Amino acid sequence: MKQCIKHALLLFLLVGAVNSEAALRVVTTTEDLAAIARAIGGAGVDVVSLTPGTRDPHFAEAKPSMIRKVSRADLLILIGADMEIGWLPPLLQSARNGRVQSGKAGYLDLSLVVPLLGKMAGPVSRAMGDVHAKGNPHYWLDPRNGARMARAIAIRFGELDPPGQADYQTRLAAFEQTLKQKLKEWQTTLSLIRGQAVIAYHTSFIYLADAFGFSIVDEVEPMPGIAPSAAHLSQLVQQIKSEQIDLLIMEPYYERRSARYLHDQTGIRIAVLPQSVGALPKIETYVDLFDRIVAILSQTGGG
Ligand SMILES: [Zn+2]
Repeated sequence: MKQCIKHALLLFLLVGAVNSEAALRVVTTTEDLAAIARAIGGAGVDVVSLTPGTRDPHFAEAKPSMIRKVSRADLLILIGADMEIGWLPPLLQSARNGRVQSGKAGYLDLSLVVPLLGKMAGPVSRAMGDVHAKGNPHYWLDPRNGARMARAIAIRFGELDPPGQADYQTRLAAFEQTLKQKLKEWQTTLSLIRGQAVIAYHTSFIYLADAFGFSIVDEVEPMPGIAPSAAHLSQLVQQIKSEQIDLLIMEPYYERRSARYLHDQTGIRIAVLPQSVGALPKIETYVDLFDRIVAILSQTGGG
């Protein structure tokens, strides 16, 4: 009996020690979510991203290190809208952590708190490419959605860790204030690009276009996730020439051959934009991400 009490006490001390280390252990599917979670959670919340910002978030491989992270987490934050459909479900199954399964308090799907663009009407088939039937999942590329995401994260943090609730709300207010101020700055800097017709490599920048008032008229990919054919490229050459399109935007992780071809044929300018925190060096926060996107666009775009 004495032994038993000793063990219980030891266990209590151990659990106590772990808790005092981090109020919450948070796992996110991408670096953007991790950056926002860190801004809201502060030093007391332990946040890790399952994928690096340098990689295409549509794809990931469930590695043992990722399974370990998910198995210990109190909260899993995901993009949702089928962005992680190819790799998160098997990872969640292997991790065997009841706290972070869909429907539990430890599962936060942020696609449910933002207005999704590009919802598909009618039936969707594989012939239409790697489409996102629930709507376009690249919504973090609108800073106004960043504020919505931060709000949902702060609320969930407060529910899972009531003693920290006031702190989370204070950090949320600061984050929202910074974003509001920065958005004005970014929009002013990008006023030159307002109303421009732009071509994107993938359907990832419709939220960015919405936030900064330019329009994406076509993609280098003929369908999402499908590499461009020679026929599609030559059709784009015609379109770029006839509509006098001056700017092509793309993520760093796509092949550059097609963009270079379009540039050679038409003179279209190419802006390689970071799509995520960590996509390029020195992008460590959500604000850094837009600072860099705006800097690159203002140097390449406008005109
Ligand atoms: Zn996509």
